[in-house]
Amino acid sequence: MKRTLALTLALTTSLSAGAGENFGGIELDSSIPATQVRTLKEDLGYLYSNPIKGFDVDFQSMAGLSKVDGPHMYNWLYNRVKHIIGQSYKLYGRNIVKKTGHSFPSTPLPPSLANNTNQFAGIIIMSNVGASLYVMGKKEKKLTGIKLGGKTVFALSPRVGILQVGEGLFLERLLINNEPNSEANKIKRLGTIFHEARHGDGHSEHIGFIHNACPPGHALSGFDACEASANGAYSLEAVATKTLLENCLTCNNEDKTKLEVTIADAFSRVVLRSHLKTEKQLLEEIATYQRVIDFYIDYLVKNPGSEMSVKELARLKSKVKECEDQLQELRTPVSAQKLDAKPEGTFKEASVEESSLLMNRSLRK
Ligand SMILES: [Zn+2]
Repeated sequence: MKRTLALTLALTTSLSAGAGENFGGIELDSSIPATQVRTLKEDLGYLYSNPIKGFDVDFQSMAGLSKVDGPHMYNWLYNRVKHIIGQSYKLYGRNIVKKTGHSFPSTPLPPSLANNTNQFAGIIIMSNVGASLYVMGKKEKKLTGIKLGGKTVFALSPRVGILQVGEGLFLERLLINNEPNSEANKIKRLGTIFHEARHGDGHSEHIGFIHNACPPGHALSGFDACEASANGAYSLEAVATKTLLENCLTCNNEDKTKLEVTIADAFSRVVLRSHLKTEKQLLEEIATYQRVIDFYIDYLVKNPGSEMSVKELARLKSKVKECEDQLQELRTPVSAQKLDAKPEGTFKEASVEESSLLMNRSLRK
C-alpha cells in the first residue's frame, strides 16, 4: 500500500514537473516553482483585468499603445513574452540547440556586442533569454534555441519571448510590503516584467535595448546597469510602474512611497551623458593633473631619458584631455536619443483580440 502510494506520488510529481502550464498564452515552464507559478498567474491576470482609469502619457508613447487599459497592456507583454523559465533552468549543455544554415538579417549588431566590449552582456544582464539567444546566434551565424517542454524553441527574433525569472522577483526583502500578493507587490513585479520584455525590442544596433555601463559619477559607475537612450528598459519599467501605481486601489502611503522610490531608481539609470561629473569637479580634476604634469616636466628636465616618467606624463595628459572632453560635453545641451523598437527577424504580432481570448480562457478555468 505504502509502496503504491509512493509510486503514485512519484508519478504525479514527475508528470506535473514535466508539463509546465499555459496561462494567457504564455508557457510557464516546469522549472518555475509552483508558488512562483501561482504568483505569476495572479500578476498577469491582475494586469489584464486592470480597468486603468488614468495613465502616464510617456508610457503610452514609449510602449506605442493605441489605448492604455489592461487588455492592451497585457497584449504588449504577450507580444514579447511567450515562455517563462525558472531560475533552475540550465542555459547550457543539452538544453541549448544550435543549427547552421539559417540566414539572419544582414543588419549590424549593437556595437557593444560586435566589439566584444560587452560580451554576453545579454545573458548576464537580461533575463530576457530569448533576445540573448538571438543576438548570440546572429553573432555566431547559428540559429540558437533552447529545449522547452520537450520541444526546441528557436530564437528567430529577439521577440521570441523567453524570460527567465529568478528568486529576486519574489524575494520578500525586495518587495514593497510583506504581503507577497498585495497589489503593491504585483505592481513591483509587473514593472520588472515590463523591463525584461523591453529587451526583446529593437533591430540592428538597437536590438535588445542593451544596458550600458553606468558612467563616472554614477552610484553604479562601471556596472552595466544604466542606459543612454530615452526609451529603454529602465524608462519603460518606470513609466509602466507609474501607470500601475496611479491605478492602485489598495496601496497605502508607505506602499506608494516605496513604489515611487522604485520609479526614481529606474529613472536614475537613464544617463544620457557619458559622465555625471559637475563642472567644479572637472575643473578641480584638471588642476590636479596639471600640477602633477608640471612636476614631471620639471623632473624630466633634470633627469632626461627616464622612460617611466615619459609614460606617466603621456598618461596624465590623456587624463586631462578626457576631462576637457567631459567638460565640453557638459557645456553642450543633450537631446535624448531614442532607440527604434521595431523588431528584427521572423515574428508575428498578436492582436489584442487574440491575447484577450487566450487570457479569458485561462481566467475562466
Ligand atoms: Zn535590463
